[in-house]
Amino acid sequence: MSNGRAEQLEPSGKRRTIGLTVALVALVIVAVAVAWKNREEKQPDTPESAMAYICTECKHVYGLTPAGYEKLAEEGGIKAPDNRESGGIVLFRCPSCGKFAAVPAVECPNDGTKVARRLPDAKPGHCPKCNWSFYPR
Ligand SMILES: [Zn+2]
Ligand SMILES: [Zn+2]
Repeated sequence: MSNGRAEQLEPSGKRRTIGLTVALVALVIVAVAVAWKNREEKQPDTPESAMAYICTECKHVYGLTPAGYEKLAEEGGIKAPDNRESGGIVLFRCPSCGKFAAVPAVECPNDGTKVARRLPDAKPGHCPKCNWSFYPR
């Protein structure tokens, strides 16, 4: 019966090896996936990737890169509207005056002035020079 026992042992030993290989391959896949995910989540921090923002309080204009945006969010510098139904918009803490009054800005096509897309009360912003607005109405 010793022969039969040896035959029984062999397949189970092989199965263990296969199981170990599968576990190792799975581990490698997970490691690669994590590395890939980290690579993708790394936000650009170049001047070209910066978005323009304007403070509606002190009129300070500045650029915010995706990496800067993430950092600001971590620091609690981005405020969601208290009540979405009232039409409030997301406000950013102004690096100049420190108030939650900065909003995304666009460049006026007529004179290049930075204009708030929307004001904190969600009304369209207008160019102080020519009254152009990002939103026609
Ligand atoms: Zn300001
Ligand atoms: Zn203008």
